[in-house]
Amino acid sequence: MSIKSFHPPVRTLMGPGPSDVNPRILGAMARPTIGHLDPAFVMMMDETKELLRYAFQTDYGLTMPVSAPGSAGMEMCFVNILEPGDKVIVCQNGVFGGRMKENVERCGATAVMVEDEWGAAVDPNKVEAALKSNPDAKVLAFVHAETSTGAMSDVRTLAQLAQANDCLTIVDTVTSLGGSELRVSDWGLDAVYSGSQKCLSCTPGLSPVTFSERALAVIKNRKTRVQSWFLDLNLVLGYWEGGGKRAYHHTAPVNALYGLHEALVILQEEGIENAWARHWQNHNALKAGFEAMGISFVVKEGERLPQLNAVTIPEGADDAVVRSRLLNEYSLEIGAGLGALAGKVWRIGLMGFASNQKNVLFCLGALEAVLADMGAKISLGVAVDAAAKSYR
Ligand SMILES: *Cc1c(COP(=O)(O)O)cnc(C)c1O
Repeated sequence: MSIKSFHPPVRTLMGPGPSDVNPRILGAMARPTIGHLDPAFVMMMDETKELLRYAFQTDYGLTMPVSAPGSAGMEMCFVNILEPGDKVIVCQNGVFGGRMKENVERCGATAVMVEDEWGAAVDPNKVEAALKSNPDAKVLAFVHAETSTGAMSDVRTLAQLAQANDCLTIVDTVTSLGGSELRVSDWGLDAVYSGSQKCLSCTPGLSPVTFSERALAVIKNRKTRVQSWFLDLNLVLGYWEGGGKRAYHHTAPVNALYGLHEALVILQEEGIENAWARHWQNHNALKAGFEAMGISFVVKEGERLPQLNAVTIPEGADDAVVRSRLLNEYSLEIGAGLGALAGKVWRIGLMGFASNQKNVLFCLGALEAVLADMGAKISLGVAVDAAAKSYR
């Protein structure tokens, strides 16, 4: 055998995640590994929790990173709050609402589905009707930023509806955290999970979560044991909240957590509201470029995510060829369509560190060059200029 060290190519990541990682974060992750019960590490974990409260805009005590990707944070929310026989209203307007349904059913609970078209936001009127006809529902579950379609739902309104009907909320903020306005405490959200590799621009593999006091009371008063040992919050808490007598639960991913800490320090330095504004500014420039080119957005104005732009593939363009040429000739990754949108759209991520002027102009220029080569039906020579103008 003569397998050698792996050296990944250097890419620009403008797909649905992971996004480009800030070199400061990679630098932090290369620092020496120490014991996960070392007082220095415990102090770093405490800072991480404080920084996460800032990112989530929450004052909830139970705020921490789960040692696994966003999907594990999702599962932690469902398995701890639900017991067999419970009823959950699940909103689905893309891929991730479908995963929520899977989670609900695997907990032995029933999912009442509220469906909206792929590419549309969750319709609060439909949610209100579902809450009225299911007064026994325990939880309303929905996705803030649907990465599969680029649609943003109105978390504040949905949470108000849930509260008016005495329902807890489980909210997916994997793609919104750090990229779109999110105010967990002000909006009264109950169980919220996210991911490290989208707008936080950290490496994949960690899932920040935060739980309200109401959610915590439900978890502490369960009649049945959580079926997952690893994700049982009652056990995890002994590790994360043990104070001086922190009990061993699992070995924390020490260096990955250095990375998350650095990502959150960077967010704090920029200021969360400035980060939200930056995502809009770069989205607006990309939008100006696509519109000049004659490429349209999938989601209607007002429901669009600034950090995930789903655009319709123009006539005369071969989806797979375009994406592989961008990767091979420009080392640029953009996302393909998923599910109902497969083959019809591209998903351009402008997440976290990757949301910048250089990437917007680079992506428009590279895409135009490839599309022009193919003879696709677009307007040539105007996209980069339109985007640049939007920054002036
Ligand atoms: C990426 C994503 C997830 C899953 O996160 P992983 O880290 O891939 O497990 C869940 N929900 C949404 C909205 C996402 O974009």
